Amino acid sequence: MVPASLAPDAVDLARAAVLEAVAVCRQVRRHREVARIDKPDDSPVTVADFAAQAVIVRRLRERGPVRILGEESARVLRRPERAKLRDAVVEAVRPAWPDATADEVLDAIDGASGPADPEGGYWAVDPIDGTRGFVRGGQYAVCLVWIAKGSPAVAVMGCPNLAPRLAPSVDELDPHGTLFVAEAGAPMRWGPALPGAELTAVDQPPSERPSPVVVTRSFEGTYSRLHDIDRVLRRIGGAVEILPADSQVKYGLVARGQAHAYLRIPQDHQRAEQVWDHAPGWLVATAAGMRVTDLRGEPFDFSCGARLERNYGLVCAIPVVHDALLEAIAALGLQHRDR
Ligand SMILES: [Mg+2]
Repeated sequence: MVPASLAPDAVDLARAAVLEAVAVCRQVRRHREVARIDKPDDSPVTVADFAAQAVIVRRLRERGPVRILGEESARVLRRPERAKLRDAVVEAVRPAWPDATADEVLDAIDGASGPADPEGGYWAVDPIDGTRGFVRGGQYAVCLVWIAKGSPAVAVMGCPNLAPRLAPSVDELDPHGTLFVAEAGAPMRWGPALPGAELTAVDQPPSERPSPVVVTRSFEGTYSRLHDIDRVLRRIGGAVEILPADSQVKYGLVARGQAHAYLRIPQDHQRAEQVWDHAPGWLVATAAGMRVTDLRGEPFDFSCGARLERNYGLVCAIPVVHDALLEAIAALGLQHRDR
């Protein structure tokens, strides 16, 4: 039986695991062609996605068994015709795991097969959130969260291309990256994505509506309806500035005050989103004093298993802007899955 509670140094362990994965991803980008294959759902996966999941699982299991639910499976890497890709993954883990064998790496990747356990505790891992951003050389995030009895309790998000200061543009890529660390009930902390770096706790968000209101949303419209987001922003009126970014980096931008809101109106009305795509960012943002709900204003329910079956879309914002966005969404009738 896996306990719902964690050892006192679990945050340090999670931080070490994410930083190792960040190092692996950076190395792949620097030295290798980013071999990309497309999964059955058309989302891309690369050598770095598999390698990052392997090093995270290995680190989290160093003190014994623990339940882990990760995005990737090694099934494709076990096929004989994928030997080249498998070898590249084994090479890619080396900075963090120098003596790894192919079998150990494949078993580590498949060690994150879950299941999500609503009654107990488990780690949820998205080794690269925003693989499209990773391939493009834009923003992406290594995301890890501990969910205890359906509630995110510890989250660590490594954003290798995000400057650890409030640069005016998120396109300005950084040699170190940014780390976000959140624990339920404590202020969110962030700083450089380096081992031992000092992290700064965030201040409470402003209570007045800022001008302009800086809104972050997806970089491309594959998953989110950018046209509907524009309609919502016209409806709230006043000066608005858009800060597009890939991945859960968007939660981090709001959490550290670089944006005031993150809005997501899903392209796919029917398919519920994966728990690892939101739980880490959700905790980073809520621990920074942000209000996070779905498009109807309902709180997120992380107790349904691997998918967020009870929620549709996302509004993450400082409270005063959150109210305005929900009002606009309701006035435009965009809050329902079935429309
Ligand atoms: Mg991913």
